[in-house]
Amino acid sequence: MDCLIIGCGLCGSVIARHMAEQGKRVVIWERRDHIGGNMYDYVDEHGFLVQKYGPHIFHTGKKELYNYMCRFEQWQDYKLTCGAVWDGKYTPTPFNFTTIDTFFPKEKAVELKLKLQKAFAGREEATVVETLEHPDPDIRAYAEYLFQNDYAPYTAKQWGVSPEIIDPSVLKRVPLRFSYEEGYFNDTYQAMPVHSFTRFFENLLNHPNIEIKLGMEALEHLFIRDGKLLLDGLDTSFLVVYTGALDELFGGIYGALPYRSLRFEWKYEKKESLQDAPVVAYPQAEGYTRITEYKKLPIQNKLGTSYAVEYPLPYQEGEKLEPYYPVLTVESQEQYAKYKALAERVPNLICCGRLADFKYYNMDQALARALDVCRN
Ligand SMILES: Cc1cc2nc3c(=O)[nH]c(=O)nc-3n(C[C@H](O)[C@H](O)[C@H](O)COP(=O)(O)OP(=O)(O)OC[C@H]3O[C@@H](n4cnc5c(N)ncnc54)[C@H](O)[C@@H]3O)c2cc1C
Repeated sequence: MDCLIIGCGLCGSVIARHMAEQGKRVVIWERRDHIGGNMYDYVDEHGFLVQKYGPHIFHTGKKELYNYMCRFEQWQDYKLTCGAVWDGKYTPTPFNFTTIDTFFPKEKAVELKLKLQKAFAGREEATVVETLEHPDPDIRAYAEYLFQNDYAPYTAKQWGVSPEIIDPSVLKRVPLRFSYEEGYFNDTYQAMPVHSFTRFFENLLNHPNIEIKLGMEALEHLFIRDGKLLLDGLDTSFLVVYTGALDELFGGIYGALPYRSLRFEWKYEKKESLQDAPVVAYPQAEGYTRITEYKKLPIQNKLGTSYAVEYPLPYQEGEKLEPYYPVLTVESQEQYAKYKALAERVPNLICCGRLADFKYYNMDQALARALDVCRN
């Protein structure tokens, strides 16, 4: 073995492929019983292709990243639409002119749309914060209405805090549209696999120099002492790429890094359609934030509908929960920096990926990061 990779998600698999193509013998250890990390999908008992760890849509502005994905799977253009429901009414998200038509009386809606078009002339969208701070009281009132009914309760549930303490500045990058445009992302490339994300990984990992061991907990064998990486007590000289969490790698000596987790409640109903879009937020619902209806992601013409109801909750190591979203605060970043400094002392260790970098990466960012590691 020339290289040991911990984690068979996007980062670990891309680096494995690169090493294998360089003629190196690579072994991947993955603690789960499947490849693909959080992008893993499978066909459920009702025949629907579902995503075990939540809805994933590949989107990027970068052609080279899209081209990389195309080496290992065929992709179909797919424009995700999302929505939100409150007071029993559905609106697309990001909020647009349909939102105004849905929640405001006709005359008021016409007036508000004109005001927005005039105030933001020449622009397709603005951030929610810009509208919250706008001098026109009607524009501010509209933004405030959305904040109270959607953003504040949704964000509060997502992060497990009270809606009153949600600061509007978290909406700095959240867009409001001044048209009837409904796509969720603005990127040039937005696609879903023709077969599955898992098929993408099968092809990516299909190389004679790659060996995969599933159900393999690396931390039962790997140990770091005095800047040296030990495998079952013996010194290592080969390269180790670690894509797991750094606090786990160092036995939590600086405390556990904070994450939010998710619990998915899987359901099936014998109806044609459950909701108006594949992914819909329910800010007023008790406990859960959103529902993903997989038959619409993309369309799967089968009987009934399979969907996952998403409940955010705090992450506790060892409780069979997954660390999904890093909680990024000044304190947690400082804590992470200490772990990172320890990792950097180990000459044959490379840490990479959403857990090891303690960052929220979209797939294209995770891919770019992995390709960067390959180049260097
Ligand atoms: C709910 C949700 C929705 C998302 N939706 C999108 C989307 O629509 N579009 C998008 O671009 N991105 C999306 N993402 C982000 C996407 O999932 C990530 O960018 C990508 O999966 C990161 O890959 P990775 O290899 O860094 O990490 P992972 O996929 O987490 O892979 C790491 C792997 O390492 C394994 N591992 C960790 N520690 C050990 C150990 N000690 N021993 C053995 N194995 C170990 C883990 O089991 C895991 O399989 C979403 C993320 C979430 C949480």
